[in-house]
Amino acid sequence: MRYIDEAKIEGLIEGAQKVPDGTFDVILAKAKSLQRLALEETAALLCTQDEKQVFQILEAASFVKDAIYGRRVVLFAPLYISNICQNNCLYCAFRARNTQVSRKALSQDEIREQIEWLLKRGHKRILMVAGESASGSHGADYYVESIKTIYAAAIGPHRIKRVNINCAPLSVDDFKKLKKAGIGTFQIFQETYHEATYRTMHPSGPKSDPDNRLAAIERAFAAGIDDVGIGALFGLYDWRFEVLAMLMHVEHLEKTFNVGPHTISVPRLEPATGSDVALHPPHKVSDADFRKIVAVLRLSVPYTGIILSTRESPAMRDELFNLGVSQVSAESRTSPGGYDSSEGEGDSDTQFTVSDHRSLDEVVASLIAKGFMPSFCAACYRKSRTGEAFMDLAKPGTIKGKCSMNALITLKEYLDDFASPEVRRSGYQLIRRMEQSLDNKEKACLGKFFTDIDRGVRDDYV
Ligand code: SAM
Ligand code: SF4
Repeated sequence: MRYIDEAKIEGLIEGAQKVPDGTFDVILAKAKSLQRLALEETAALLCTQDEKQVFQILEAASFVKDAIYGRRVVLFAPLYISNICQNNCLYCAFRARNTQVSRKALSQDEIREQIEWLLKRGHKRILMVAGESASGSHGADYYVESIKTIYAAAIGPHRIKRVNINCAPLSVDDFKKLKKAGIGTFQIFQETYHEATYRTMHPSGPKSDPDNRLAAIERAFAAGIDDVGIGALFGLYDWRFEVLAMLMHVEHLEKTFNVGPHTISVPRLEPATGSDVALHPPHKVSDADFRKIVAVLRLSVPYTGIILSTRESPAMRDELFNLGVSQVSAESRTSPGGYDSSEGEGDSDTQFTVSDHRSLDEVVASLIAKGFMPSFCAACYRKSRTGEAFMDLAKPGTIKGKCSMNALITLKEYLDDFASPEVRRSGYQLIRRMEQSLDNKEKACLGKFFTDIDRGVRDDYV
């Protein structure tokens, strides 16, 4: 794969076994001063097996997360619009050769109904997901129509504020269409950065070309989409290799476009209908190693959001909030049309099995109980604080104040309109606690927003 230097990565992993005494503490101190780490430094953290050092890494990640993002965690829901796919990714239930899954592309009416269901629960941010189809009727124009339908759907004053998309590589012209339709982040996971493994896992279809997949981000940038998300599917190859390769990818983007990815996702392989690879991951990642992956990423690229999905169990998700995760999905269904009372995760048409089945209200309750601020904010996207502009605010810590304020505003809207009585009570207690850390000017500003919400104003932000 272009600019993923496998020999260099192997060398970094080998070199990390003989880090001189004292170096570990120097690297950790650098990370805690919120500086980006070099690949050699990241490798040293990633490869340590010393329990005390691992504990220090987890502690430092929690410190850095607090310093940059504060206590807010952004919530979103995936919307699978189509599972029609011409690829044959061995780990995925939607692969073309899997006859155990019925195929479906939602109509625009069905998409609107799904969004109305999500809006009624309080969701405000969507990750639109689709299989890869060469047919025009399920390709870029279909995505554009779907994005428009999602933004147009409304329940009273409630609308979706931001649509991100996870889809196959597109041409620059097609990316321009998505940009025009108002997408937030374009997300694409390289799955594995190890070329031989990539070729084995993707035997046919357009996705079998690893360089075309890697180049998708560049085409998105060329089309003017400057919020991009990357990721690796953990379990396909050695996780140390994947993390270092992903960071090499980040370095390449930073060098070429002056800005790295907006987010990094850390999906772990989950069972999928008819997939042996998904059931028996060739490089299964233990919970302990997974915690380390998230913590080291938080330290290595402190300003990049980390996304966690409902592939992880409630207990694991609750732990990872502390270690640096900044966005999580809630009450996800991974099949097209999955959001209604009759279809659920027992359904064999899902892409993979989710492990966290809690409702949005329950996820919000759990975040509040741990002192985190659930946020439904999309202000940066709306105020064009994307790409480099976002990083310019994130680096000096300016964004944290705005994030906290917007988290509290959107949380109050959620509590007033959607929360169960217990969550409303605990949410208000949290808001009161968080208000105490604001200065007088911020308190007055927040008070004004809250009065407006009490008067019926919705969807406000700083
Ligand atoms: N079809 C597009 C693609 O592959 O890029 C986008 C959507 S795909 C449905 C989204 C992601 O789901 C993939 O990039 C892959 O990482 C993940 N995925 C597929 N099978 C999975 C499994 N069994 N467990 C966990 N994640 C899986
Ligand atoms: Fe298709 Fe994406 Fe699944 Fe691969 S991961 S089979 S491209 S839906």
